[in-house]
Amino acid sequence: MSSHFDVLEMARQQLAKAAKYLDLDEGLHMVLSRPKRALIVNFPVVLDNGEVTCFEGYRVQHNTSRGPTKGGLRYHPDVDVHETTALAMWMTWKCAVANIPYGGAKGSVKVDTKKLSKRELEKLTRRFVTEINMIIGERGDIPAPDIGTNPQVMAWIMDTFSMHAGYTVPGVVTGKPIELGGSEGRVEATGRGVVVCAQEACKSAGMDFSSSKIVVQGFGNVGSVAARLSEEDGATVVGISDARGAIYNPKGLPIRELYERYAGRDGGISEYKDCEHIDNATLLELPCDILMPSAISAQLTAQNAPNVKAKLIVEGANGPTTPDADAIFSDNGVLVVPDILANAGGVVCSYFEWVQDLQNFFWEENEVNTKLARIMRHSYSAVEATMKVHKTDMRTAAMIIGVKRVAEATIMRGIYP
Ligand code: NAD
Repeated sequence: MSSHFDVLEMARQQLAKAAKYLDLDEGLHMVLSRPKRALIVNFPVVLDNGEVTCFEGYRVQHNTSRGPTKGGLRYHPDVDVHETTALAMWMTWKCAVANIPYGGAKGSVKVDTKKLSKRELEKLTRRFVTEINMIIGERGDIPAPDIGTNPQVMAWIMDTFSMHAGYTVPGVVTGKPIELGGSEGRVEATGRGVVVCAQEACKSAGMDFSSSKIVVQGFGNVGSVAARLSEEDGATVVGISDARGAIYNPKGLPIRELYERYAGRDGGISEYKDCEHIDNATLLELPCDILMPSAISAQLTAQNAPNVKAKLIVEGANGPTTPDADAIFSDNGVLVVPDILANAGGVVCSYFEWVQDLQNFFWEENEVNTKLARIMRHSYSAVEATMKVHKTDMRTAAMIIGVKRVAEATIMRGIYP
């Protein structure tokens, strides 16, 4: 995914901007701009037809000052170690902004899952977990779902790790099925957090969320939930997309029906008829109040940012806006609620899942959703307040909070030995 844009450079530019506001020590800045640990593995899998093929995967742990590392596992053909490092860095700031006791990590495997059978996917997952077994664990580094992975993949991770340990270790991974120690509300948590942030941003901007027009890029875990919850709150979702294409109806799309009848099927949402069929580039420039980029990184760039009509952008995806585009949005008065705040709902609920697993004591969905919304709103108002104090954009404000908390923890702990 980073083949078209250097997302690690983008993450480092964002850090450098926050470091200036914090007058961050040069040595500390150097430490925070690099991952603590990065493991690259190449591993074989026997395919269903008997052939052996080799896959490349990564697990990058960025920072452990505030606790064990936490971050998703991505299966996608375009991943690389640089992008995985950038995503691990963003996880560090995200956990610090939400004030949950983790550092950031990320994992990826370079694979097109559409070309694998379920059995092949299981074998790939089990072998990858075995290869990174020595650096993950419920007290050390806890993976979770991301693009191309889901609760079933998390279940295989838990089982594989447990087989090596000799006993069941549910806390080694989050985003598991409920039956295996997953948390109520986890599947919806990221999209739910995106919607809470959009609602908070609307309140501040004097906009009415429930009468707004919304465009969502990506109709996977994050995008489909954000679209469904927006629709449930009365908003009109006029455009959505997946990797195959986008659909538009200025009067609104029936999100629940699209989710139940079209998403995840062969033709995807493109099979739906009562709409205009457009491409993903056009989708981002549609007339709307709120844009929720919830697919992949570097989608809003200097090229298309001037044509974006939304007044509010809430980043469901990680890194969808490039620094050039950020500057254009800032000049044009478009408020961007940054990824490290807007999509933190997933890791916050993962934190709840981990706590429940460690205690073997499980909460009801209502309790999970209430606690999640409270943390999201609290984080939102802290970032908004910092934005006003420093007269800066929201991403920089969130970075200032995140980097400051990590820097303070590092200084308090001291440099070993
Ligand atoms: P997913 O695999 O469930 O869905 C991804 C969606 O994006 C799919 O609809 C896919 O068709 C679409 N897509 C892929 N390539 C595209 C392209 N080129 N153009 C348009 N659409 C495209 O993944 P997800 O878990 O929903 O993650 C989406 C984004 O949210 C990622 O950036 C991920 O890092 C971020 N995120 C996810 C979580 C989580 O809990 N799942 C948490 C925080 C952030």
